[in-house]
Amino acid sequence: MPGMKKPKGKGMMTIRQFRQLFGEEARCWEHLTRLRWPRGFVCPRCGGGSRGYMKAKRVHECRACGYQGSVTAGTIFHKTRVPLSDWFWAIYRLSQGKKGISALQLSKEIGVSYPTAWLIAHKIRKAMADREQGRQLRGLVEVDEGYVGGKARGSGRIGRTAQHKSIVAVAVEHWRAGAPGRPPIPGRAALAVIPDATTPSLRTFLRAKVELESAVLTDAFTSYSGLTPRGYAHAAIPLGDDRELLRRFFPWVHITLSNLKRFLLGTHHKPQPKHMKRYVAEFAYRLNRRWQEASLFHRLARACLSTNTITYKDLVAEPELT
Ligand SMILES: [Zn+2]
Repeated sequence: MPGMKKPKGKGMMTIRQFRQLFGEEARCWEHLTRLRWPRGFVCPRCGGGSRGYMKAKRVHECRACGYQGSVTAGTIFHKTRVPLSDWFWAIYRLSQGKKGISALQLSKEIGVSYPTAWLIAHKIRKAMADREQGRQLRGLVEVDEGYVGGKARGSGRIGRTAQHKSIVAVAVEHWRAGAPGRPPIPGRAALAVIPDATTPSLRTFLRAKVELESAVLTDAFTSYSGLTPRGYAHAAIPLGDDRELLRRFFPWVHITLSNLKRFLLGTHHKPQPKHMKRYVAEFAYRLNRRWQEASLFHRLARACLSTNTITYKDLVAEPELT
């Protein structure tokens, strides 16, 4: 992302490398099996080993209890009719670069309907969200919130009426001071859709995302009051229109929010507010792994294996603001 430098290292997996590894369906199944059972099949019912692999059904039969288990059972690939090689392509496209991929583009690239591509992408996003969930920042952390998505009446400032907009709280660690005259070096970030910008909502966000005893920097917005007695070293900085103060104390929350807006608008146009939390999690997932380009695909594939699936029914039944 602009401003947030990526340390040099091994680059991302190229399309050619991807095709070599996962171009064939059988290799995708083998790969998933190795990832899930590195020491061979383990029966999810009784822990027994494999009596044999039934190729036509793609299941292992348990030697002890006879259970027939698929490597995809209980994962986001559960009972899928889409070839694994297409799933892997979707994981590749969602893990690389900073833009991700729209459901429309994905549907064209793997040749499935739009609703199928949309569902695949949301299932992968759920795996990303689950990985991001437990993340807690520490040390010196700048915090802010802002509207994203939709249209706003008024200028979009807190307190005005916002239409179809979501409020996202953002926290970014300062790892260490920057060079003289330069902003501090940013560490990890935590983002979450919050129901409103009230004190309880912001405190809930902080409790979930920032370790106690961390130093928290906010502007003088009243909803941030009372953090010190709750275990944070809190500095509220009255910003007004002082751009110099903004640059000094809040260099990263604003860049992060504007990059998030650009991602939502550029890739997804107008995501529905009820699904916003997963788009935000996707953005945070890639942002927090910007140092790990070479292993992004493998990390995300592993995350997809250890996440229970979410169904289309679950997705559309979700309430508006969660
Ligand atoms: Zn068994």
